[in-house]
Amino acid sequence: MSTENTTASEAVEHVRQAFSRGVTKPYEWRREQLHALRSLLIDNQDLLERALSRDLGKHPTESQTTEIGIVLAELDHTLSRLRRWLRPRRVSVPLVLAPASAKTVYEPLGTVLIMGPWNYPVQLILAPLIGALAAGNAVVLKPSELAPATSEAIAALVPAYLDDRAVAVVEGDAEVASQLLAQRFDHIFFTGSTAVGRIVAKAASETLTPVTLELGGKSPAFIDDTVDLEVAARRLVWGKLLNAGQTCVAPDYLLASPRTADALVPHLRAAIAEFYGDDPSLSGDYGRIVSTRHAERLRTLLDGQTPVIGGRVDVSERYAEPTVINGVDPDSALMSEEIFGPILPIVHVADASDAVRFIAAREKPLSLYVFSDDRDVRRRFVRDTSSGAIAFGVPAAHLTVADLPFGGVGASGTGAYHGERSFTTFSHAKAVLSKGLVPDTMSLVYPPFTSGKSAI
Ligand code: NAD
Repeated sequence: MSTENTTASEAVEHVRQAFSRGVTKPYEWRREQLHALRSLLIDNQDLLERALSRDLGKHPTESQTTEIGIVLAELDHTLSRLRRWLRPRRVSVPLVLAPASAKTVYEPLGTVLIMGPWNYPVQLILAPLIGALAAGNAVVLKPSELAPATSEAIAALVPAYLDDRAVAVVEGDAEVASQLLAQRFDHIFFTGSTAVGRIVAKAASETLTPVTLELGGKSPAFIDDTVDLEVAARRLVWGKLLNAGQTCVAPDYLLASPRTADALVPHLRAAIAEFYGDDPSLSGDYGRIVSTRHAERLRTLLDGQTPVIGGRVDVSERYAEPTVINGVDPDSALMSEEIFGPILPIVHVADASDAVRFIAAREKPLSLYVFSDDRDVRRRFVRDTSSGAIAFGVPAAHLTVADLPFGGVGASGTGAYHGERSFTTFSHAKAVLSKGLVPDTMSLVYPPFTSGKSAI
């Protein structure tokens, strides 16, 4: 089901009825839908790549590795394990209850809403859909209006491949999103900004609807001089400039001592040139900023800064040059909001302890990256900072590990998904206890409470 004229409430009601009729519960239906989603991706790779290129100037290879390929890998992981995940899980019962048996049974939540952002508009709407379908839910998808070509493609393809009794796409802007949030859901899975996450959480609280909030924020990276700076620079540049910096898990800023920072900058410059040539605006591998409004925001963030690399933002072309600023004031505008663009500020710290303090004094980030060969330093970051994820030696790649939960903590999000965590996120773990009536061993706890019973 997908038409622009379908109102939010009609779409929700339509799929809710399918859930009530039990359409989505059988294992076979779930498997079928996951296979259909697989076909959707395989048959329409060109179409999706074109849409991503129109919306974000993504190179087809980047679309494969960071969007389509990630969803396909998640699908295969889920398809090969779903039967096992669905098995009831036995647990032991206390002696006082014996004989009895207890187990956890996973049941679908019901009708779920998945709202996506524009930056990875295929991956971040379809990867959560895998978990929702695997868990047997009816689903309403709301793609981002800021990636209109991809939104249109999703709205056309989903009803053509998936069971349109139980999966609907509602396209539209914040107004449509608000109409959806006014409906009753059994779970809301939201990926987007912390500001809108707050709106979602507030709306959900009216109906006590549980939420998963996959939010953003400033993900720091720390580097010291124990590592190979040339390789580290390549990794940092890759993670930062993927999708022109519009990646929730991109290193937002870098913490380094002044000496390490000075030594690193030439390697960052070399890595940028190696990946995108001397003028990245001419490289087909380098993306564009999603809108002129966002490009203008980036341009403003650079006011008063003195970049050591790049610095040009061409608003009308939605082009932002890879930019590095060395020695940024921690109180500057660049450090007060998520950058979400190809600008890397380097903030000077004295050492790892100083970096740990810097991070711990701010909102808990979605990811934290540490480049250090010193085991003690690495241990200290794990122990003394809190973040959705911490990765050593490589940014952004942790989200490809299906068995790692992907999500934030504190201001960077609530809940997690990927692999089995997606399945459990979209399921209710129901407690099931069974105890025979004969013999009535419960008589030991019934009143009257004689002295013999108090010993239990
Ligand atoms: P956004 O919050 O502006 O939009 C996300 C969704 O919310 C869209 O579908 C949009 O239509 C809807 N929306 C916008 N305004 C709304 C309102 N007032 N009421 C109700 N719904 C509204 O986010 P974005 O700009 O699309 O994405 C960028 C943000 O998302 C960044 O902060 C980034 O870090 C974060 N992000 C997080 C993850 C993650 O996995 N944690 C992944 C990608 C992006």
